[in-house]
Formats: sequence, structure tokens, C-alpha cells
Amino acid sequence: MIELKNIQKTYPNGFCAIKNLNLQIQKGDIYGIIGYSGAGKSTLIRLINRLEEPTNGEVLINNTNILNLNPKALQKQRQKIGMIFQHFNLLSRRNVFDNIAFALQIAGWKKEECVQRVLELLDLVGLKDKKDFYPNQLSGGQKQRVAIARALANHPQILLCDEATSALDTKTTQSILALLKDIQQKMSLTIVLITHQIEVVRAICNKVCVINKGEIIEEGEVAKILSHPKHQITQELVATMPHKKNQDYLHFLPDSTNLYELVFINEAKDSPIISQALQKFKVTFNIHFADFNTLPSQSFGRMILDIQGEEIEEALAFIRAQNVEIESIQRKNND
Ligand code: ADP
Repeated sequence: MIELKNIQKTYPNGFCAIKNLNLQIQKGDIYGIIGYSGAGKSTLIRLINRLEEPTNGEVLINNTNILNLNPKALQKQRQKIGMIFQHFNLLSRRNVFDNIAFALQIAGWKKEECVQRVLELLDLVGLKDKKDFYPNQLSGGQKQRVAIARALANHPQILLCDEATSALDTKTTQSILALLKDIQQKMSLTIVLITHQIEVVRAICNKVCVINKGEIIEEGEVAKILSHPKHQITQELVATMPHKKNQDYLHFLPDSTNLYELVFINEAKDSPIISQALQKFKVTFNIHFADFNTLPSQSFGRMILDIQGEEIEEALAFIRAQNVEIESIQRKNND
């Protein structure tokens, strides 16, 4: 649905912010683009609606290269791509109702249809009782709800979120993310979001790419990337997740040659694999660490076991056959 092909963006001062980047986003994805400040995230997301013009490459939306559109066609196309921002970008002199109506007026909606649509949108974002308020009378979360309503006014297929929760506290962030997830399902939207917070990716995305110095360094399903971050920057970002902060257990593992790390993804997490292995084989398991995560559409877990007994290899083969990945901790440390 969204395809960036060999995209390069060099700013007029000669700085190359995006380097020959390729990216595919499918319809219905909630796709997270994560990276540190300066990585190129804002530049990248703004290329999707041509707020930035690439120096090279193609931007395909539903197989149309939007770089070939004339200004009028581009304006029509942009109505199908809503966008929200970190600082909301509301019009301070207009009340909530008029901020939302503004997007419809620009798109040429008739006045009566406008009123009906704004009321629908206010209902959708839970702000019916605030329609006459001005932006300075709203909390950050409420302002972002107005911005979401405005972005969705013209029934877009795509919603771009530029650090949409970065200015909000944790609780408000959660409620805005829940709203986005809800809207995505109700409207069959495709959402592309940029963030520096892995928690945002974990909370709502199904796919993610990690960007650094204008290049994608890692991409894939969220459960896969969070359970197996390969690149050092991805590992750093994953390490900032609250439950990952305490990795001290790694320093307190016993001095055993039979320590194994097991990674369970999706179905493997929901089966009694460990107890089955205990019943079938002459082994004992001593669990030194276990951690399970449930994501919106996937789940994964990790366990560190000290395995003793006569049938260690057989037990490991059985567990592996249930789609559990196993790595010897000893071998890992020697790499
Ligand atoms: P992020 O959103 O990940 O923080 P940006 O896309 O804003 O990153 O910026 C990526 C790089 O491009 C940064 O080094 C930034 O300084 C540079 N950059 C952004 N906008 C411009 C511009 N208009 N002219 C020159 N360099 C820019």
C-alpha cells in the first residue's frame, strides 16, 4: 500500500538525511519507525505525504507514484493521508468544533454535511462535551484528540503520527494509543508512526523498523524484533523498556554448563511445553529467569533454565520441535 523505493533526501545544505531507503507498509499495518533523535524519522514520515520532496526515488501509495501528481491531484491525495503532530498544531483562535470543521471546509464539504461529520468525529474521540472549548482550555491529551479528529475528517486511508505522544504523560499516552488502536480497527486505517519510545511500538505496532543515520538497520514483526534485537542500537532501545531495565539476573546465574535461554513466540508461549518435557524425559529444570510479554497481536517470552539429567539432548530436541528457540548461554558468552 505504501512503498518507498530507493529514497534519498539531501537537504539544500548538502546533508543527506535519508540514504537509498526502501520500505514497504501493508494495508492495516500499524507500522512504527523508531530511532534516536536526528536519525531521520521526521524526514522519512514527511516524505510519505510529500511534505518533503525526495532527491531521488519513488513514493508509491496504492501503486501510484505521488511524485508524479500535479498540485491539484496531490492536494486530493493528501486528503487521504491524515497527519498528527507532537505539538498538536491546532488553530488557537478556533474552538474545537471549528478546528475539526476547518479540514472539511478546505476539502469543499457542504455546511450541513460538515456539522454532521464533526459531531461524528467528536463522538469518535470522546470530546462531544468540549466542542465549544478553545485549545488553551484543553489538556494535552484532549488537544491530541482534537488533532486526531481533524486528521480523520476526510476519511483517510492512512494516518501519519509524528511523535504524537512524546509531549504527553504516561497515562495520557496510553489513552491516546488505545484510541489510535481502536480507530485503526474501526476505520481499517493504515497507521505509520515515528517515535523514539520503544514502549509506543510495543503498545500498538505490529511491524517496526529501526532507523539510524538515514538508513534502516533492522525491520520486521514487533515480537521478533523485541525478542531478538540484533543491531546494537535496537538492543539499546529495547533495553529501555521498563521490564528490561533489570537485567542484573545475567550476572547472578549459577556456574553451570547446562544453562539455556529459551525464546517462546506466539503459540509456543501458550502450550505446556516445559511440563510435557519434564514428563517425557529424565531431566530436571531449574528456572533462573522468566519474562513474558503480550503485544496486541502477538506474544513472546524468554526463560533461562539450568537443565540437568540423563536426557538433556532429547528434552532440548523436543522443546525445539515446538517452535521454541534455544541457545546455550555458555556458547553465547564464548562467541
Ligand atoms: P529525527 O526526526 O529522527 O530526529 P530528522 O529527520 O528531523 O530526524 O533529521 C535528520 C537529520 O537531518 C538531522 O541531522 C537534521 O539535523 C537534518 N535536517 C533536518 N532538516 C534539515 C534541513 N531542513 N536542512 C538540513 N538538515 C536538516
